[in-house]
Amino acid sequence: MASIQNITVLGATGSIGQNTLDVIRRHPDKYRAFALTASRSVEQMLADIAEFQPRYAVMADAQAAQQLNTQLPTDCTTEILSGDEALAMVASHDDVDQVMAAIVGAAGLLPSLAAAQSGKRVLLANKESLVMAGPLFMQAVEQGNAELLPIDSEHNAIFQSMPESYSGELSAHGIDKILLTASGGPFRGKSRDELTAVTPEQAVAHPNWSMGAKISVDSATLMNKGLELIEACFLFHCAPEQVQVVVHPQSVIHSMVQYCDGSVIAQLGQPDMRTPIAYGMAWPERIDAGVKSLDLFEIAQLDFMPPDEASFPCLRLAKEAFAAGGTMPAVLNAANEVAVDAFLRQELSFIAIPDLIEQVMKRHAVQHIEQLQTVLDADRWARDCAQQLMTEESL
Ligand code: NDP
Ligand code: MG
Repeated sequence: MASIQNITVLGATGSIGQNTLDVIRRHPDKYRAFALTASRSVEQMLADIAEFQPRYAVMADAQAAQQLNTQLPTDCTTEILSGDEALAMVASHDDVDQVMAAIVGAAGLLPSLAAAQSGKRVLLANKESLVMAGPLFMQAVEQGNAELLPIDSEHNAIFQSMPESYSGELSAHGIDKILLTASGGPFRGKSRDELTAVTPEQAVAHPNWSMGAKISVDSATLMNKGLELIEACFLFHCAPEQVQVVVHPQSVIHSMVQYCDGSVIAQLGQPDMRTPIAYGMAWPERIDAGVKSLDLFEIAQLDFMPPDEASFPCLRLAKEAFAAGGTMPAVLNAANEVAVDAFLRQELSFIAIPDLIEQVMKRHAVQHIEQLQTVLDADRWARDCAQQLMTEESL
Protein backbone atom coordinates (compact mmCIF):
# COMPACT_ATOMS: atom_id res chain seq x y z
CA MET A 1 0.00 0.00 0.00
CA ALA A 2 2.28 2.73 -1.23
CA SER A 3 -0.02 5.65 -1.96
CA ILE A 4 -2.58 7.22 0.36
CA GLN A 5 -5.79 5.19 0.38
CA ASN A 6 -8.98 7.14 -0.27
CA ILE A 7 -11.82 5.90 1.93
CA THR A 8 -15.54 6.47 1.66
CA VAL A 9 -17.18 6.06 5.05
CA LEU A 10 -20.85 5.14 4.63
CA GLY A 11 -22.60 5.82 7.94
CA ALA A 12 -19.78 8.09 9.11
CA THR A 13 -21.76 9.63 11.98
CA GLY A 14 -22.58 6.26 13.59
CA SER A 15 -20.68 4.13 16.04
CA ILE A 16 -18.65 2.21 13.42
CA GLY A 17 -18.26 5.36 11.31
CA GLN A 18 -16.79 7.36 14.18
CA ASN A 19 -14.43 4.51 15.10
CA THR A 20 -13.31 4.37 11.46
CA LEU A 21 -12.62 8.09 11.45
CA ASP A 22 -10.56 7.63 14.59
CA VAL A 23 -8.33 5.08 12.86
CA ILE A 24 -8.02 7.38 9.81
CA ARG A 25 -7.16 10.26 12.18
CA ARG A 26 -4.24 8.23 13.55
CA HIS A 27 -2.74 7.59 10.09
CA PRO A 28 -2.92 10.72 7.93
CA ASP A 29 0.08 9.42 5.97
CA LYS A 30 -1.85 6.30 4.90
CA TYR A 31 -5.56 7.14 4.67
CA ARG A 32 -7.77 10.00 3.61
CA ALA A 33 -11.52 10.38 4.17
CA PHE A 34 -12.70 10.88 0.59
CA ALA A 35 -16.44 10.95 1.27
CA LEU A 36 -18.56 10.83 4.42
CA THR A 37 -22.24 9.91 4.52
CA ALA A 38 -25.05 10.08 7.08
CA SER A 39 -28.80 10.26 7.23
CA ARG A 40 -29.72 13.29 9.35
CA SER A 41 -26.90 13.98 11.85
CA VAL A 42 -26.01 17.47 10.64
CA GLU A 43 -24.03 18.56 13.72
CA GLN A 44 -21.72 15.54 13.69
CA MET A 45 -21.27 15.84 9.94
CA LEU A 46 -20.30 19.51 10.26
CA ALA A 47 -17.64 18.62 12.82
CA ASP A 48 -16.31 15.76 10.67
CA ILE A 49 -16.20 17.90 7.53
CA ALA A 50 -14.23 20.56 9.43
CA GLU A 51 -11.71 17.97 10.61
CA PHE A 52 -11.38 15.65 7.60
CA GLN A 53 -12.26 17.98 4.69
CA PRO A 54 -13.67 15.20 2.49
CA ARG A 55 -14.34 15.82 -1.20
CA TYR A 56 -17.99 14.82 -0.72
CA ALA A 57 -20.50 14.65 2.14
CA VAL A 58 -23.77 12.89 1.43
CA MET A 59 -26.89 13.17 3.57
CA ALA A 60 -29.48 10.51 2.67
CA ASP A 61 -32.12 12.96 3.81
CA ALA A 62 -32.57 15.90 1.39
CA GLN A 63 -33.66 18.34 4.09
CA ALA A 64 -30.63 17.50 6.20
CA ALA A 65 -28.41 18.10 3.16
CA GLN A 66 -29.97 21.53 2.73
CA GLN A 67 -29.48 22.33 6.39
CA LEU A 68 -25.86 21.19 6.19
CA ASN A 69 -25.26 23.40 3.16
CA THR A 70 -26.52 26.52 4.91
CA GLN A 71 -24.33 25.89 7.98
CA LEU A 72 -21.12 25.17 6.08
CA PRO A 73 -18.33 27.79 6.34
CA THR A 74 -18.04 29.76 3.09
CA ASP A 75 -14.47 28.61 2.40
CA CYS A 76 -15.39 24.90 2.69
CA THR A 77 -14.61 22.92 -0.47
CA THR A 78 -16.63 19.81 0.43
CA GLU A 79 -19.44 19.16 -2.02
CA ILE A 80 -22.76 18.36 -0.31
CA LEU A 81 -25.06 15.84 -2.02
CA SER A 82 -28.13 13.85 -1.06
CA GLY A 83 -30.13 10.79 -2.05
CA ASP A 84 -29.56 7.17 -3.09
CA GLU A 85 -27.70 7.95 -6.31
CA ALA A 86 -25.20 10.12 -4.49
CA LEU A 87 -24.62 7.36 -1.92
CA ALA A 88 -23.93 4.87 -4.71
CA MET A 89 -21.71 7.42 -6.51
CA VAL A 90 -19.38 7.98 -3.54
CA ALA A 91 -19.27 4.21 -2.91
CA SER A 92 -18.13 3.50 -6.48
CA HIS A 93 -16.16 6.65 -7.41
CA ASP A 94 -13.02 5.96 -9.45
CA ASP A 95 -10.81 7.74 -6.93
CA VAL A 96 -11.98 5.56 -4.01
CA ASP A 97 -9.86 2.61 -2.82
CA GLN A 98 -11.81 1.43 0.22
CA VAL A 99 -15.42 1.70 1.34
CA MET A 100 -16.47 1.28 4.94
CA ALA A 101 -20.03 -0.07 4.69
CA ALA A 102 -21.44 1.07 8.04
CA ILE A 103 -24.96 2.27 7.35
CA VAL A 104 -27.38 0.50 9.68
CA GLY A 105 -29.99 -1.86 8.27
CA ALA A 106 -31.43 -2.44 4.81
CA ALA A 107 -30.60 1.15 3.81
CA GLY A 108 -26.99 -0.03 3.49
CA LEU A 109 -27.69 -2.58 0.78
CA LEU A 110 -27.53 -0.46 -2.38
CA PRO A 111 -24.38 1.55 -1.59
CA SER A 112 -22.60 -1.58 -0.27
CA LEU A 113 -23.47 -3.39 -3.49
CA ALA A 114 -22.25 -0.42 -5.53
CA ALA A 115 -18.89 -0.63 -3.74
CA ALA A 116 -18.66 -4.38 -4.43
CA GLN A 117 -19.64 -4.05 -8.09
CA SER A 118 -17.02 -1.38 -8.68
CA GLY A 119 -14.21 -3.51 -7.28
CA LYS A 120 -13.38 -1.63 -4.10
CA ARG A 121 -11.94 -3.01 -0.91
CA VAL A 122 -15.24 -3.37 0.94
CA LEU A 123 -15.00 -3.18 4.72
CA LEU A 124 -18.30 -4.80 5.58
CA ALA A 125 -19.94 -3.85 8.87
CA ASN A 126 -23.47 -3.70 7.42
CA LYS A 127 -24.31 -7.39 7.94
CA GLU A 128 -27.93 -6.74 6.95
CA SER A 129 -26.93 -6.42 3.28
CA LEU A 130 -25.44 -9.93 3.28
CA VAL A 131 -28.45 -11.34 5.14
CA MET A 132 -30.88 -9.77 2.67
CA ALA A 133 -29.09 -10.50 -0.55
CA GLY A 134 -26.18 -12.85 0.24
CA PRO A 135 -25.99 -14.65 -3.12
CA LEU A 136 -26.26 -11.39 -5.10
CA PHE A 137 -23.77 -9.64 -2.86
CA MET A 138 -21.17 -12.41 -3.12
CA GLN A 139 -21.69 -12.50 -6.89
CA ALA A 140 -21.12 -8.73 -7.08
CA VAL A 141 -17.88 -9.13 -5.11
CA GLU A 142 -16.67 -11.79 -7.53
CA GLN A 143 -17.75 -10.06 -10.71
CA GLY A 144 -16.49 -6.67 -9.56
CA ASN A 145 -13.22 -8.25 -8.40
CA ALA A 146 -13.71 -6.55 -5.04
CA GLU A 147 -11.86 -7.38 -1.81
CA LEU A 148 -14.35 -8.22 0.91
CA LEU A 149 -13.05 -7.81 4.45
CA PRO A 150 -15.38 -8.57 7.35
CA ILE A 151 -15.51 -5.89 10.03
CA ASP A 152 -18.07 -7.54 12.31
CA SER A 153 -15.74 -8.52 15.17
CA GLU A 154 -16.65 -12.23 15.06
CA HIS A 155 -16.18 -12.56 11.31
CA ASN A 156 -13.02 -10.55 11.46
CA ALA A 157 -11.77 -12.96 14.15
CA ILE A 158 -12.72 -15.97 12.01
CA PHE A 159 -10.96 -14.40 9.02
CA GLN A 160 -7.85 -13.91 11.16
CA SER A 161 -8.03 -17.52 12.44
CA MET A 162 -8.33 -19.10 9.00
CA PRO A 163 -5.48 -20.06 6.69
CA GLU A 164 -4.46 -17.17 4.45
CA SER A 165 -5.11 -19.32 1.42
CA TYR A 166 -8.74 -20.01 2.41
CA SER A 167 -10.56 -20.72 -0.81
CA GLY A 168 -14.12 -21.21 0.31
CA GLU A 169 -14.42 -24.77 1.54
CA LEU A 170 -13.90 -25.59 5.20
CA SER A 171 -12.97 -29.25 4.74
CA ALA A 172 -10.36 -28.47 2.07
CA HIS A 173 -8.41 -26.65 4.78
CA GLY A 174 -8.90 -29.22 7.54
CA ILE A 175 -11.49 -27.07 9.27
CA ASP A 176 -14.23 -28.89 11.21
CA LYS A 177 -16.27 -25.92 12.28
CA ILE A 178 -16.48 -22.25 13.11
CA LEU A 179 -17.13 -21.29 16.74
CA LEU A 180 -19.11 -18.06 16.66
CA THR A 181 -18.96 -16.37 20.05
CA ALA A 182 -21.80 -14.32 21.55
CA SER A 183 -21.76 -12.19 24.69
CA GLY A 184 -25.36 -13.17 25.46
CA GLY A 185 -26.29 -9.48 25.75
CA PRO A 186 -27.64 -7.60 28.77
CA PHE A 187 -30.40 -10.15 29.50
CA ARG A 188 -28.34 -13.33 29.52
CA GLY A 189 -29.70 -15.78 32.11
CA LYS A 190 -33.20 -14.26 32.18
CA SER A 191 -36.29 -16.38 31.57
CA ARG A 192 -38.96 -15.38 29.03
CA ASP A 193 -41.16 -14.26 31.97
CA GLU A 194 -38.45 -11.99 33.28
CA LEU A 195 -38.13 -10.42 29.83
CA THR A 196 -41.73 -9.22 29.54
CA ALA A 197 -41.16 -5.81 31.12
CA VAL A 198 -37.62 -4.93 29.99
CA THR A 199 -37.21 -1.41 28.60
CA PRO A 200 -35.34 -0.02 25.57
CA GLU A 201 -32.94 1.67 27.98
CA GLN A 202 -32.03 -1.67 29.55
CA ALA A 203 -31.80 -3.35 26.15
CA VAL A 204 -29.33 -0.86 24.66
CA ALA A 205 -27.06 -0.98 27.73
CA HIS A 206 -24.76 -3.68 26.37
CA PRO A 207 -22.38 -5.09 28.99
CA ASN A 208 -19.24 -5.06 26.80
CA TRP A 209 -19.73 -3.13 23.56
CA SER A 210 -20.76 0.45 22.82
CA MET A 211 -22.85 0.33 19.61
CA GLY A 212 -25.77 1.91 17.78
CA ALA A 213 -29.29 1.36 19.16
CA LYS A 214 -30.47 -1.15 16.55
CA ILE A 215 -27.57 -3.60 16.86
CA SER A 216 -27.69 -3.24 20.65
CA VAL A 217 -31.31 -4.44 20.68
CA ASP A 218 -30.35 -7.19 18.21
CA SER A 219 -27.68 -8.29 20.69
CA ALA A 220 -30.22 -8.35 23.49
CA THR A 221 -32.67 -10.54 21.51
CA LEU A 222 -29.85 -12.71 20.05
CA MET A 223 -31.06 -11.73 16.56
CA ASN A 224 -27.61 -10.26 16.10
CA LYS A 225 -26.15 -13.76 16.46
CA GLY A 226 -28.75 -15.10 14.04
CA LEU A 227 -27.84 -12.45 11.46
CA GLU A 228 -24.17 -13.21 12.09
CA LEU A 229 -24.70 -16.93 11.56
CA ILE A 230 -26.18 -16.18 8.14
CA GLU A 231 -23.38 -13.68 7.50
CA ALA A 232 -20.77 -16.37 8.33
CA CYS A 233 -22.39 -18.88 5.96
CA PHE A 234 -22.15 -16.43 3.05
CA LEU A 235 -18.70 -15.06 3.87
CA PHE A 236 -17.04 -18.41 4.48
CA HIS A 237 -19.16 -20.54 2.13
CA CYS A 238 -20.27 -22.96 4.83
CA ALA A 239 -23.44 -24.61 6.09
CA PRO A 240 -25.20 -23.46 9.29
CA GLU A 241 -24.42 -26.86 10.86
CA GLN A 242 -20.74 -25.96 10.57
CA VAL A 243 -21.20 -22.85 12.70
CA GLN A 244 -21.64 -23.34 16.42
CA VAL A 245 -22.79 -20.44 18.57
CA VAL A 246 -20.90 -20.27 21.87
CA VAL A 247 -21.97 -17.82 24.56
CA HIS A 248 -18.87 -16.22 26.05
CA PRO A 249 -19.92 -13.38 28.38
CA GLN A 250 -16.51 -11.66 28.66
CA SER A 251 -16.25 -10.91 24.89
CA VAL A 252 -12.49 -11.44 24.99
CA ILE A 253 -12.40 -14.21 22.38
CA HIS A 254 -14.08 -12.77 19.30
CA SER A 255 -14.56 -16.17 17.60
CA MET A 256 -12.62 -19.33 16.78
CA VAL A 257 -11.91 -21.89 14.08
CA GLN A 258 -11.70 -25.57 15.00
CA TYR A 259 -9.41 -27.79 12.90
CA CYS A 260 -9.55 -31.56 12.36
CA ASP A 261 -6.28 -32.16 14.24
CA GLY A 262 -7.81 -30.89 17.48
CA SER A 263 -6.44 -27.34 17.19
CA VAL A 264 -8.70 -24.41 17.90
CA ILE A 265 -7.39 -21.04 16.70
CA ALA A 266 -8.94 -17.96 18.27
CA GLN A 267 -8.55 -14.20 18.01
CA LEU A 268 -8.61 -12.33 21.31
CA GLY A 269 -8.76 -8.63 22.01
CA GLN A 270 -10.47 -5.74 23.75
CA PRO A 271 -14.13 -5.23 22.83
CA ASP A 272 -13.14 -2.24 20.69
CA MET A 273 -14.21 -2.10 17.03
CA ARG A 274 -11.12 -0.14 16.07
CA THR A 275 -9.20 -3.44 16.08
CA PRO A 276 -11.20 -5.13 13.27
CA ILE A 277 -11.56 -1.79 11.45
CA ALA A 278 -7.80 -1.17 11.42
CA TYR A 279 -7.20 -4.79 10.44
CA GLY A 280 -9.55 -4.45 7.47
CA MET A 281 -8.04 -1.15 6.37
CA ALA A 282 -4.41 -2.29 6.57
CA TRP A 283 -4.71 -5.99 5.64
CA PRO A 284 -2.43 -7.86 5.10
CA GLU A 285 -0.39 -5.43 7.19
CA ARG A 286 -1.17 -4.23 10.72
CA ILE A 287 -1.38 -0.70 12.02
CA ASP A 288 -1.88 0.93 15.41
CA ALA A 289 -5.60 1.13 16.17
CA GLY A 290 -5.38 3.11 19.41
CA VAL A 291 -6.56 0.03 21.33
CA LYS A 292 -4.87 -0.94 24.58
CA SER A 293 -3.51 -4.46 24.79
CA LEU A 294 -5.22 -7.21 26.73
CA ASP A 295 -4.35 -7.74 30.37
CA LEU A 296 -4.96 -11.46 30.81
CA PHE A 297 -4.38 -11.31 34.58
CA GLU A 298 -7.06 -8.66 34.88
CA ILE A 299 -9.45 -10.82 32.82
CA ALA A 300 -8.47 -13.93 34.82
CA GLN A 301 -11.39 -16.05 33.68
CA LEU A 302 -13.16 -16.96 30.44
CA ASP A 303 -16.58 -18.66 30.52
CA PHE A 304 -18.48 -20.55 27.81
CA MET A 305 -22.06 -21.82 27.63
CA PRO A 306 -24.66 -22.78 25.01
CA PRO A 307 -27.20 -20.16 23.86
CA ASP A 308 -30.66 -20.14 25.47
CA GLU A 309 -32.95 -20.48 22.45
CA ALA A 310 -36.08 -20.81 24.62
CA SER A 311 -35.79 -17.32 26.11
CA PHE A 312 -34.28 -15.88 22.93
CA PRO A 313 -36.10 -17.41 19.90
CA CYS A 314 -34.55 -15.00 17.36
CA LEU A 315 -31.55 -17.29 16.83
CA ARG A 316 -33.87 -20.15 15.85
CA LEU A 317 -35.86 -17.83 13.55
CA ALA A 318 -32.69 -16.79 11.75
CA LYS A 319 -31.69 -20.43 11.24
CA GLU A 320 -35.17 -21.19 9.88
CA ALA A 321 -35.03 -18.19 7.55
CA PHE A 322 -31.66 -19.28 6.16
CA ALA A 323 -32.89 -22.86 5.73
CA ALA A 324 -35.98 -21.60 3.85
CA GLY A 325 -33.60 -19.60 1.62
CA GLY A 326 -34.49 -17.21 -1.22
CA THR A 327 -36.29 -14.13 0.04
CA MET A 328 -36.86 -15.42 3.59
CA PRO A 329 -33.70 -13.95 5.17
CA ALA A 330 -34.65 -10.54 3.70
CA VAL A 331 -38.10 -10.94 5.24
CA LEU A 332 -36.59 -11.89 8.61
CA ASN A 333 -34.35 -8.82 8.44
CA ALA A 334 -37.10 -6.39 7.45
CA ALA A 335 -39.57 -7.67 10.06
CA ASN A 336 -36.82 -7.41 12.65
CA GLU A 337 -36.08 -3.80 11.69
CA VAL A 338 -39.75 -2.87 12.05
CA ALA A 339 -40.03 -4.74 15.37
CA VAL A 340 -36.86 -3.21 16.84
CA ASP A 341 -37.94 0.26 15.77
CA ALA A 342 -41.35 -0.23 17.42
CA PHE A 343 -39.70 -1.58 20.58
CA LEU A 344 -37.39 1.46 20.75
CA ARG A 345 -40.46 3.71 20.45
CA GLN A 346 -42.11 1.66 23.22
CA GLU A 347 -44.86 0.47 20.91
CA LEU A 348 -43.94 -3.21 21.12
CA SER A 349 -42.73 -5.28 24.05
CA PHE A 350 -39.34 -6.99 24.01
CA ILE A 351 -40.80 -10.50 23.89
CA ALA A 352 -43.16 -9.51 21.07
CA ILE A 353 -40.14 -8.88 18.80
CA PRO A 354 -39.63 -12.58 17.91
CA ASP A 355 -43.40 -13.16 17.86
CA LEU A 356 -43.91 -10.45 15.24
CA ILE A 357 -41.02 -11.71 13.10
CA GLU A 358 -42.33 -15.28 13.25
CA GLN A 359 -45.83 -14.17 12.22
CA VAL A 360 -44.44 -12.29 9.22
CA MET A 361 -42.26 -15.25 8.20
CA LYS A 362 -45.27 -17.60 8.39
CA ARG A 363 -47.17 -15.41 5.93
CA HIS A 364 -44.35 -15.23 3.39
CA ALA A 365 -44.20 -17.32 0.22
CA VAL A 366 -40.47 -17.73 -0.49
CA GLN A 367 -39.15 -16.67 -3.88
CA HIS A 368 -35.79 -17.35 -5.49
CA ILE A 369 -33.61 -14.28 -5.73
CA GLU A 370 -32.05 -13.82 -9.10
CA GLN A 371 -32.61 -10.10 -9.20
CA LEU A 372 -32.20 -7.34 -6.69
CA GLN A 373 -35.77 -6.17 -7.25
CA THR A 374 -37.07 -9.45 -5.81
CA VAL A 375 -35.16 -8.72 -2.58
CA LEU A 376 -36.38 -5.13 -2.43
CA ASP A 377 -39.98 -6.27 -3.02
CA ALA A 378 -39.72 -8.87 -0.24
CA ASP A 379 -38.27 -6.24 2.09
CA ARG A 380 -41.18 -3.88 1.33
CA TRP A 381 -43.73 -6.68 1.68
CA ALA A 382 -42.35 -7.74 5.08
CA ARG A 383 -42.37 -4.17 6.41
CA ASP A 384 -45.98 -3.68 5.34
CA CYS A 385 -46.98 -7.05 6.76
CA ALA A 386 -45.29 -6.31 10.12
CA GLN A 387 -46.94 -2.88 10.34
CA GLN A 388 -50.30 -4.41 9.52
CA LEU A 389 -49.91 -7.10 12.19
CA MET A 390 -49.00 -4.48 14.78
CA THR A 391 -52.07 -2.38 14.02
CA GLU A 392 -54.26 -5.47 14.24
CA GLU A 393 -52.82 -5.92 17.74
CA SER A 394 -52.72 -9.64 17.24
CA LEU A 395 -49.52 -9.75 19.27
P1 NDP B 1 -25.38 3.59 14.20
O1 NDP B 1 -26.84 3.64 14.40
O2 NDP B 1 -24.48 4.07 15.28
O3 NDP B 1 -25.01 4.42 12.87
C1 NDP B 1 -25.70 4.23 11.69
C2 NDP B 1 -25.18 5.13 10.58
O4 NDP B 1 -26.00 4.94 9.42
C3 NDP B 1 -25.25 6.61 10.90
O5 NDP B 1 -24.23 7.29 10.24
C4 NDP B 1 -26.61 7.01 10.31
O6 NDP B 1 -26.73 8.40 10.03
C5 NDP B 1 -26.62 6.18 9.04
N1 NDP B 1 -27.97 5.90 8.58
C6 NDP B 1 -29.05 5.53 9.34
N2 NDP B 1 -30.14 5.36 8.56
C7 NDP B 1 -29.75 5.63 7.29
C8 NDP B 1 -30.43 5.67 6.04
N3 NDP B 1 -31.74 5.37 5.93
N4 NDP B 1 -29.73 5.98 4.94
C9 NDP B 1 -28.43 6.31 5.01
N5 NDP B 1 -27.72 6.31 6.17
C10 NDP B 1 -28.37 5.98 7.29
O7 NDP B 1 -25.04 2.09 13.78
P2 NDP B 1 -23.71 1.26 14.08
O8 NDP B 1 -22.51 2.06 13.70
O9 NDP B 1 -23.78 0.64 15.41
O10 NDP B 1 -23.88 0.05 13.04
C11 NDP B 1 -23.68 0.23 11.65
C12 NDP B 1 -23.66 -1.14 10.97
O11 NDP B 1 -22.52 -1.86 11.45
C13 NDP B 1 -24.88 -2.01 11.29
O12 NDP B 1 -25.20 -2.76 10.16
C14 NDP B 1 -24.40 -2.93 12.40
O13 NDP B 1 -25.05 -4.17 12.40
C15 NDP B 1 -22.93 -3.11 12.02
N6 NDP B 1 -22.05 -3.42 13.14
C16 NDP B 1 -21.91 -2.54 14.17
C17 NDP B 1 -21.08 -2.83 15.25
C18 NDP B 1 -20.85 -1.83 16.33
O14 NDP B 1 -20.00 -2.05 17.19
N7 NDP B 1 -21.55 -0.71 16.38
C19 NDP B 1 -20.40 -4.12 15.33
C20 NDP B 1 -20.61 -4.98 14.20
C21 NDP B 1 -21.41 -4.64 13.15
P3 NDP B 1 -27.37 9.42 11.13
O15 NDP B 1 -26.33 9.56 12.22
O16 NDP B 1 -27.57 10.66 10.37
O17 NDP B 1 -28.63 8.77 11.62
MG1 MG C 1 -20.63 -8.89 15.86
